Amino acid sequence: MASPSQVLVSEVGPRDGLQSIASTLTLAAKKKWIDALAHSGLKEIEVGSFVSPKWVPQLADTAEVVAHALGIEGLKVAVLVPNLQGATAAVQAGAHKITLPFSASETHSLKNVRRTHAQMFEEVAAIAALLHSVDGARRPRFEVGMSTAFGCTYEGVVPADRVVALAEGAMRAGCDEVGLSDSVGYANPAQIRDLVSRVKRAIGAETFAGLHLHNTRGLGLANVIAGLEVGVTTFDASQAGLGGCPFAPGATGNIVTEDLVFMLEAMGITTGIDLGKLLNAREVLASVLPHEPLYGFVHAAGLPLGFDAAS
Ligand code: ZN
Repeated sequence: MASPSQVLVSEVGPRDGLQSIASTLTLAAKKKWIDALAHSGLKEIEVGSFVSPKWVPQLADTAEVVAHALGIEGLKVAVLVPNLQGATAAVQAGAHKITLPFSASETHSLKNVRRTHAQMFEEVAAIAALLHSVDGARRPRFEVGMSTAFGCTYEGVVPADRVVALAEGAMRAGCDEVGLSDSVGYANPAQIRDLVSRVKRAIGAETFAGLHLHNTRGLGLANVIAGLEVGVTTFDASQAGLGGCPFAPGATGNIVTEDLVFMLEAMGITTGIDLGKLLNAREVLASVLPHEPLYGFVHAAGLPLGFDAAS
């Protein structure tokens, strides 16, 4: 299969990144950063999560952040929702896309959202029913993000057959699409090729949402290449590699948006993102988060001579 000529980079830093760090950004700082991200040409940003502020106080202002992001022309505003209650709040806020994390590891599911797989299928069905009652234009797209799809810090190996069966079950329960998450950075390129191919065959290529990869063990971009080889066209990434999973000990670092965009554009794959402006957004982030570690290579090394950053 030939690599896609165009890729959607979905920025998850304002959600995945900010939920995992000790500092809490003010609403004004979040708006400034999201504006800068969108200005670089990013077309989809996961701006927050409708999770109880008791669990994730850093994202307590998600409704206000969504309201702001909806004012940015052409931007698809995505949010994470842990359950029906979160989905209801997301619909009220007017989000364009919701992602429900569904752990392929049942142990992780119990720790993350306190639900068994059976209870998760009920949740998917309840959210699907809610969305059916929403008027078409206001109905968000509903992704199930299959987390720990490539392995789990509690269970270790997660069998591929189980992931395929859960993806099929989620589609049957009424979601629009299923994506795969390497929440703890266990995946390798061969596994990516195998599991993505199998899930796409099972649920249909058009309902495969994309890959959410972490760089915990340095294989993030290698795994992107493997995804491209099996036709994946949407990749999540986090500016400066901010974040990880607070519920999976030892898991840090989404793939770095700047490094991902550099690799794709250098390969001739269009992202629509201006790398110079994306690096400016990183400066905005650094200015509002002066005490958090930021990651990535392109920022440190600079762009190669002759590289055309403007998309
Ligand atoms: Zn992540």
